[in-house]
Amino acid sequence: MKEYTEPRMHTAEHILNQTMVRMFNRGRSFSSHIEKKKSKCDYRFDRDLTAEEVAEIEQRVNGIIRADLPVREEFISRQEGERAYDLGRLPDSAGETLRIVRVGDYDACPCSGSHASSSAEIGEFKIVSTGFENGVLRIRFKIADRPESP
Ligand SMILES: [Zn+2]
Repeated sequence: MKEYTEPRMHTAEHILNQTMVRMFNRGRSFSSHIEKKKSKCDYRFDRDLTAEEVAEIEQRVNGIIRADLPVREEFISRQEGERAYDLGRLPDSAGETLRIVRVGDYDACPCSGSHASSSAEIGEFKIVSTGFENGVLRIRFKIADRPESP
């Protein structure tokens, strides 16, 4: 199973995915590449984002980060999970018990990775660039060490 070695970046990915779902209702990223300095997430989409949309995504994600939501895990049966979540990215080897990772009451999704213990640990979220090609929207992002002062 895929291991994430960048818990803060990866937790930002969870929040970004939920923000994309809430704003556009086109699903979470189907592919992502999480690294220490810069990460990217790919979404099925039909166009590039506007500057206003990029600004709104940053604003929403940073709002969740500043709210300092707890990141918690819970375990449910695979059967329960199939009713509530899209398990498309989970390998069959995930077994009969699923680990659900919650960011406060903002996001919940099955995941086996490592996470920050609260959203405030992530730091300031910044979209570096976006691009659109062949039905795929790519969002590149980074996080600063500390949130900027309001
Ligand atoms: Zn995760």
